[in-house]
Amino acid sequence: MSNIPATSKAAVLVEVGKPEVIEDIPIPELEEGSVLAKVLLAGICGTDVHQGRGELSIPTVTPLIQGHETLGRIEYISGDRKLAIDGTELKVGDRIMWAHPFCGECYECRVLRKPYMCSKSFGSGYGFNKPELLRGGFAEYVKITPATEIVKVPDNITDEEALGVGCAFRTVVSGFERLHDHSPIGTGDTVVVQGAGPIGLYSVLLSSFSGAARVIAIAAETERLELAKEWGAAVTINLKEVTDHKDRVNIVKEYTNGRGAEFCIEASGAPIAFVQGFDYMARYSTYLVMGQTSSNSVEFVPNVLQGKQAVVIGSGSADARHFYKALQFISAHREKIDFSKMISRTYALEDVDEALENMRLGKDVKGAFDNRNR
Ligand SMILES: [Zn+2]
Ligand SMILES: [Zn+2]
Repeated sequence: MSNIPATSKAAVLVEVGKPEVIEDIPIPELEEGSVLAKVLLAGICGTDVHQGRGELSIPTVTPLIQGHETLGRIEYISGDRKLAIDGTELKVGDRIMWAHPFCGECYECRVLRKPYMCSKSFGSGYGFNKPELLRGGFAEYVKITPATEIVKVPDNITDEEALGVGCAFRTVVSGFERLHDHSPIGTGDTVVVQGAGPIGLYSVLLSSFSGAARVIAIAAETERLELAKEWGAAVTINLKEVTDHKDRVNIVKEYTNGRGAEFCIEASGAPIAFVQGFDYMARYSTYLVMGQTSSNSVEFVPNVLQGKQAVVIGSGSADARHFYKALQFISAHREKIDFSKMISRTYALEDVDEALENMRLGKDVKGAFDNRNR
């Protein structure tokens, strides 16, 4: 274990609503089957912003190291572990990403076969844990536990192209899997995507690859809407320019012969967006809700759902296999799509508060901590 560092710098959220503190965390015990990864890039998520402000529906238990979308390089493998999820061998130096751990024994793991909904491992994931466990991406190193599935990053894609898989893209791949189980996007359909953050942008991308005639992206950030166009949105509506919801509904109706869209995807995270989404939707349409993390409530008239005979699918998080599929998609389409545009700025760990604030203000498509030169 000679090449293992004694400590790792980490940004620690000591108290909700307070600036984060850079601390030296001792590298924890690396039991059989665990892996120590050097963090190359750590993505900053809207969830981190809400967590830091105590706005998540999941309670924030401080102190903790944030960061659940991490791309790392294997520094040390403890014992004879092990294989990546595609059955290939893991070795020191591999670039990897990893899912939240799961128990493999509970109802959700074994009957539902949805490890990401594991009831026993809840709260033991990355970005939600005590600093001494070193299980958050806002650090130089992360300890990956034996119960965590690991995915290798294909050699032909860059760190920047891959990073968005760590949270948003795998979430969208998982959400689209559920969507296509219930109501596949048909050739010629219209899809409205609310929000053009990472989840919205990957939703635009997969919608346009699914055969939709028209993808309409609605968001408040000009830079993100530009990227939405590049990634397949035929129409963009800027909330700052079209401020009245009724006018936005009229634009959607103009493009859909007065009927509304066959699909709507909620990726904005604003609770009111859930109410407004139904106004963009046609009768017999489907609503995929993936952006909601707030515990705030909104008023909703249930008759709207019944009147439209709409299907609503809620989806969040994903399994390691969705990471794998998202990475394969990037590997195959990187000549046509510039996936690296998801990461609009990189920061040093020491700039954690500025990075989170810029994400909150929508100044970055996605910011990331870059440890590659430290
Ligand atoms: Zn995230
Ligand atoms: Zn479980």
